[in-house]
Amino acid sequence: MVPISMETFVNKHCKNNPEENRAQFKENLKQAVQDKKNGVTCDNCGERIWAIGSTVSHYACFSCLTGEADSSGDYEIDEVCLL
Ligand SMILES: [Zn+2]
Repeated sequence: MVPISMETFVNKHCKNNPEENRAQFKENLKQAVQDKKNGVTCDNCGERIWAIGSTVSHYACFSCLTGEADSSGDYEIDEVCLL
């Protein structure tokens, strides 16, 4: 995955989704990052969750959220990118 800082991703997301509540979105993202650090896994397959996708959509891993195996072109928050 492509590492991105939380701040940069929040800016990017809110630019693309002007109706998003920025403070709330950031809180949710922080929570997902923390949960990934704590070892939360996908309900469906047991892989580590994808923090960004879990914030935007619902808690699951990259493959289950996107239906793709290749995550090389997608962002993940830098501090949990290598988990
Ligand atoms: Zn999964």
